Amino acid sequence: MGTSHPSASPSCGGHFDFLIVGAGISGIGAAYHLHQRFPGSRFAVLDAMDGFGGTWWTHRYPGARSDSDLYTYGYGFKPWRGRSIATADEIRAYLGEVIDENGLAPRIRYRHKVMTADWSSQEQRWTLEVARTDSGETLTFTTRFLWMCSGYYDHGQGHTPQWPGLADFEGRVVHPQHWPQDLDCAGQRVVVIGSGATAATLIPALAGSAAHVTMLQRSPTFFAAQPWAHELEAPLRALDLPDEWTHEILRRAHLARNAEVVRMSFEQPEALRAFLIHETRAQLPEGFDVDRHFNPGYRPWQQRLALVPDGDLFAAIRGGQASVVTDTIECFDATGIRLASGQHLAADVVVTATGFNLHLFGGVPFGVDGEPVDFSRRVTWRGVMIEGLPNMAYLQGYFRSSWTLRVDLVCDLVGRVVEHMRAQGHAAVVPTLRGEDAGMPRLPWIDPDNFNAGYVLRAQHRMFRQGDRHPWKHGMEYPEERAILPGVRPDDSALAYY
Ligand SMILES: Cc1cc2nc3c(=O)[nH]c(=O)nc-3n(C[C@H](O)[C@H](O)[C@H](O)COP(=O)(O)OP(=O)(O)OC[C@H]3O[C@@H](n4cnc5c(N)ncnc54)[C@H](O)[C@@H]3O)c2cc1C
Repeated sequence: MGTSHPSASPSCGGHFDFLIVGAGISGIGAAYHLHQRFPGSRFAVLDAMDGFGGTWWTHRYPGARSDSDLYTYGYGFKPWRGRSIATADEIRAYLGEVIDENGLAPRIRYRHKVMTADWSSQEQRWTLEVARTDSGETLTFTTRFLWMCSGYYDHGQGHTPQWPGLADFEGRVVHPQHWPQDLDCAGQRVVVIGSGATAATLIPALAGSAAHVTMLQRSPTFFAAQPWAHELEAPLRALDLPDEWTHEILRRAHLARNAEVVRMSFEQPEALRAFLIHETRAQLPEGFDVDRHFNPGYRPWQQRLALVPDGDLFAAIRGGQASVVTDTIECFDATGIRLASGQHLAADVVVTATGFNLHLFGGVPFGVDGEPVDFSRRVTWRGVMIEGLPNMAYLQGYFRSSWTLRVDLVCDLVGRVVEHMRAQGHAAVVPTLRGEDAGMPRLPWIDPDNFNAGYVLRAQHRMFRQGDRHPWKHGMEYPEERAILPGVRPDDSALAYY
């Protein structure tokens, strides 16, 4: 446990060596690593919500679960002991253990929403204005080093398109980010708009009790049916090996499988498409129009590939409890949704599983010496820091591999940079373009040819940029970054220390 908590009461601001924003899987991982590496340092984690877990705190709809296996979605430092795919509650319980086992609870300040972040070169520190969401108080925190672990989307507001006639609909409209705990879908006609991972999770969970569930999509998504547990799990557990061994073996097994799928998605996309469609067809009734409903217009993994554990979504369709409609919404009316084809979908409940509003750094406006920071004019340093922002790191995970694989890699790199800074007696580190970087093209944060999910495309113009060369690129693939990031030297010529 670190030695000091500078403020007598958790409701006061204070000065810290490190402030982490976000108590999701990234922020808890960052706190663990800081605690291990800099045991005497003063640090705190600020989160706007009432509890830890981030994504797994916000998403409380029926059946909420991971898409990734927990052997790679769990941290490298703490073995996962359950089935590969985990429920939101199981993930929160795991994060709770990390907090308890490392004495992190007193560090975390809930209901603290960071409103602004300003760097002063004179004082060589960040000042954060923080609103307490319970008392309405505004607090001021200062820190030498700021670490944004605020995820990538707005937890307060999901993305809901404005369809004509929505106000006339007499049923209930809910967004999965704000699932009303009193909502009972038993016996109801439910329409889920969207066909991403959330829809794939919700539909089987509702299918047993609802009168019927319709998945309404404008265009299809790739789905992959996989068991809840990896086939090696039971034999390994039967050997009664140390948990660390079982975790590591299963982690490698999942990594190898995922790497092969991602490799195929780039090198043999049509072979992968044919395989996924073949597997999907095998799970659906004879004559089902698989091409219309399950064959997307994009390459596999150009958007997220949605998991169907044990084929549960397909079983619901086979059983007649769920169906798929691929069409465009023309308007809502009092009783449901009218589609461009003329079909009318009667509904009691409409779930808008239409995605996120992407949020850069928790929506916090940043300033450096009084100048507002326009992130769209800055490039990333290795997907870890931002050009021209001193003593600020961020944590963003992968889309095509488990998010958390990047947490351990980035935490190690940030730790080494801070150690170097301290060892050399510097107060600040700032990614700085070098002479050879002059004229470097400023490319989008994510190349749409590489990944083109709607929430990314909607927000590209607000995001930071990347260059066309290291160290100004934002890595998207774990196998590549696993080889690169551990070798990055803190005396990288693009890092200026002073
Ligand atoms: C339903 C769902 C399922 C998913 N499943 C997977 C999966 O299986 N595998 C995978 O790899 N990824 C998955 N993802 C992506 C997921 O977001 C990441 O895996 C991961 O949870 C992100 O963790 P995080 O801690 O970086 O951010 P988040 O979980 O988004 O947490 C960010 C935290 O920061 C806080 N915060 C933000 N802004 C501020 C502010 N201004 N002030 C104070 N606090 C702030 C928020 O309150 C929140 O608690 C899923 C996403 C969703 C929505």
